[in-house]
Amino acid sequence: MAIDLFQFREFRIRDYHALLRRGEISVEELLEAFLQRIGSVDGQIRAFLSLNEEGARIRAQKLDRDIPPDEFPPLWGIPVGVKDNICTEGLPTTCGSRILYNFIAPYDATVVEKLKRAGAIIVGKTNMDEFAMGSSTENSAFGPTRNPFDLRRVPGGSSGGSAAALASLETPLALGSDTGGSVRQPASFCGVVGLRPTYGRVSRYGLVSFASSLDQVGPMARNVEDCITLFEVISGSDGKDSTCAPYPPFSRQDIPKEEEIRKMKVGIPREYFSSGVDEAIVRRIEEVLDLLRREGLECVEVSLPHTDCALEAYYIVAPAEASSNLARYDGVLYGLREEGSTLQEMYCRTRTAGFGKEVKRRIILGTYSLSSGYYDDYYLKGMKVRTLVRKDFEEALQKCHFLVTPVSPCFPFFLGERTQSPYEMYLADVFTIPSAMAGIPGISINCGYENGLPIGLQILGGPFREGWVFGLALFLEKMLSLSSPFPLLPERS
Ligand code: GLN
Repeated sequence: MAIDLFQFREFRIRDYHALLRRGEISVEELLEAFLQRIGSVDGQIRAFLSLNEEGARIRAQKLDRDIPPDEFPPLWGIPVGVKDNICTEGLPTTCGSRILYNFIAPYDATVVEKLKRAGAIIVGKTNMDEFAMGSSTENSAFGPTRNPFDLRRVPGGSSGGSAAALASLETPLALGSDTGGSVRQPASFCGVVGLRPTYGRVSRYGLVSFASSLDQVGPMARNVEDCITLFEVISGSDGKDSTCAPYPPFSRQDIPKEEEIRKMKVGIPREYFSSGVDEAIVRRIEEVLDLLRREGLECVEVSLPHTDCALEAYYIVAPAEASSNLARYDGVLYGLREEGSTLQEMYCRTRTAGFGKEVKRRIILGTYSLSSGYYDDYYLKGMKVRTLVRKDFEEALQKCHFLVTPVSPCFPFFLGERTQSPYEMYLADVFTIPSAMAGIPGISINCGYENGLPIGLQILGGPFREGWVFGLALFLEKMLSLSSPFPLLPERS
């Protein structure tokens, strides 16, 4: 059967499964439709760093042969894009860095293993800021990804490749990672859905470390329901990651019903509606809050007084951890190697050639704040601020069930607009970093458009309250009756 992807724009996994179950399409045909879409639009978007066409086809044929159609595992036959800092056996895992340009992962990350067990097909590895450091994908050593809504603009970052691939319907599902906002901010810029889980809800085994006390793999999708399905598959304890909480995988049974959601209380943190936020974004979020009030939900104002310091503290804590994690890229075991006449010279030449500017900046910052004499003034202080930030959320979330905020203070900016000023770039994450520091879950969903550009809305909840967060997200998705993105892309030149 010839497949028209336009017909898929509102599809959910269950709709694909209905087609497969009725035998109207095969897994192979479904995969071919997405590969064709990638072939026709990715030259402009550049969401993928590498494709797994051959492996995906072999797997699709195997699924068509093997699995009895009435026993579908949750992701049976569904293509998934995987961010390039998540290890996938036999496929490149470059982290968007020259230093890992030739690295083929020898094993699967736990999340990838789980995807495969659930029947998913890994279609390729998605572009990202180098080692997930950035908010635009412009820090990728292999060139930026473009925003499908306006090719002159960034898709956000660092999981910009995953977000753009979803928005342009190159894949129905994707994985990202969020250290300080890297799932939510690109989801917001591309009009898709992205969840940052509670720290410890998803295994980090096989996720290349950036800042280990903050990193989390997050599910990304074109609608809330698919995001939930993907989260059910990837969450849960893992003996290979000691920071992974000893809980069973998330289950949609934990999502409150609509009647219960209507009785819940929404907190509005006043610091997230300050003067630095684009007026159109504030206006839209306020309209949504009005709608929630009309639907019976009580909205209360709350305060997160340490919001401003969270960003500063993050840029102490995250680079400190990064400087230690990135010490392993020395040209010895894997990746790029630039020879030198001494070991020291080899290290130095390898790291000089292999790392980009932003990564070097963070390594230097992190090494500085951890060095003796500065540790107390910087790292220790940063950690103290982190505790205050966490307390802010604990207190606020005693007064309400969840918080509703903008995801980003600005719209997707133009390529090159912020690359000269790291601080400007860092500001794109002011509203996602504090909750990451607190370790609590947050989702980004689309809540409308202004001049053709998507606006993201963030829902934050207490630790392990993904059920509540999803409950409100589903409720809003329905109330706002927003469709999944389908930006019209110019013909390939
Ligand atoms: N943009 C933030 C940074 O550059 C967050 C990145 C992330 O979450 N990986 O560190």
